[in-house]
Amino acid sequence: MVSKVFTDSSIAVPAQETFLKTWQVIRQIDNLNSIEQLWAAYYTYIGNDIFATGLLFFCLHEIMYFGRSLPWFIIDRIPYFRKYKIQDTKMPSNKEQWECMKSVLISHFMVEAFPIWFFHPICEKIGISFYVPFPSLSSMAFQVSLFFLLEDAWHYWFHRGLHYGSFYKYIHKQHHRYAAPFGLAAEYAHPIEVMLLGFGTVGIPIIWCYFTRDLHLFTICIWITLRLYQAVDAHSGYEFPWSFHHFLPIWAGAEHHDEHHHHFIGNYASSFRMWDFFLSTEAGDIAKKTRENKQKAKAEKLAKKAN
Ligand SMILES: [Zn+2]
Ligand SMILES: [Zn+2]
Repeated sequence: MVSKVFTDSSIAVPAQETFLKTWQVIRQIDNLNSIEQLWAAYYTYIGNDIFATGLLFFCLHEIMYFGRSLPWFIIDRIPYFRKYKIQDTKMPSNKEQWECMKSVLISHFMVEAFPIWFFHPICEKIGISFYVPFPSLSSMAFQVSLFFLLEDAWHYWFHRGLHYGSFYKYIHKQHHRYAAPFGLAAEYAHPIEVMLLGFGTVGIPIIWCYFTRDLHLFTICIWITLRLYQAVDAHSGYEFPWSFHHFLPIWAGAEHHDEHHHHFIGNYASSFRMWDFFLSTEAGDIAKKTRENKQKAKAEKLAKKAN
């Protein structure tokens, strides 16, 4: 089978016997940068686009998720970093981290390993491109920023909904097992929650492309990588003077999500602080006090008016 990875259908590169040889042939083609050459060599060498896309996304998820969790696992074992731990009295034990990792792996293989093979046919149907060359950097940056904003809104409302009665009891409670989270716990959740909140990550780009017909698989790779980093970092349990939200104040980060796990109520958004700020659902004692003061001032104003 020959891959359809080249936009220019006059280019037909047969797969060589090794990936390296395929890559060397593709490097002779003009106008492709090194990432595009690697991408084209990968699809050409595999020779089956459905399998290539499925394998790529499965590996991307595993490598980025566990790869990003590993530094936090190591930092947990270095006493120097203890002063930056938000809930410094609650260090995750080896047993807890191991159990969490097993559960996450089972969920990845049970929930994700099957639907992922339908991903490439869906992409073809709605026009998500996987051709080289890639779109411009500015268009990829715009789409990734948009996905961050839309996913944040999706996550805020559905996560807030998951805190109601039976939804919490039967679905979301699993994710709240760790009142002091750690990186690996980002995807520790009930399969229904994985699918529901995961839709914000995977479904939103699909819907975007359904209406615009303008999206590349490589943009989705960047988006998923950054979204995974955001989710793992938000669960890291560490707040540093150099944490990203000090440079971009609307960024949520670990400080924001740790408070959610600590208090169980408030801070429902994933990447940004706007939704919780404007809808008065911020977590923590300071936010609670500010809310109470606001309500008190409002009540006093009303009482004055009535007099
Ligand atoms: Zn929650
Ligand atoms: Zn969480």
